[in-house]
Amino acid sequence: MITIRVDALSESQLAEIALAVQNRWDVPAFVKMHEIVVMDDEDLSESPQTITQPLDMDTFQRGFSVILENLELMSAFSLEQDGKTKFRLKLVDPSGMPRWMEDLKTKKSTPEGVYECPHCGKWYNSEFELNLHTKLHYII
Ligand SMILES: [Zn+2]
Repeated sequence: MITIRVDALSESQLAEIALAVQNRWDVPAFVKMHEIVVMDDEDLSESPQTITQPLDMDTFQRGFSVILENLELMSAFSLEQDGKTKFRLKLVDPSGMPRWMEDLKTKKSTPEGVYECPHCGKWYNSEFELNLHTKLHYII
């Protein structure tokens, strides 16, 4: 399990990065509070195409830099290793924040009692329904 701590971004902004991680390595990535959690070493026997071996940290760091570049986050953030499988994405230049990230921040937030899928934005009435739905993103 790899965690990337990001204090400067909201959950919906983090979800975009998590989705990019997920697409790159075919591993589930969640947003939990101010962290992106990458489940690279889980037993995912029900989704055979996913990697069940831990990613090596060099590969991860290199790939993550490419993700940052693709998302235009290279100039605003720097990635620092904070432990064996722990990283911290530090905001070094707030003026380098790309426009699309700013737009996400002003997006209307989810109403009270509604559970929103961090990947596609669909709404659910309970966490249980949302969890059932989110699994789909990992299987596809
Ligand atoms: Zn979804």
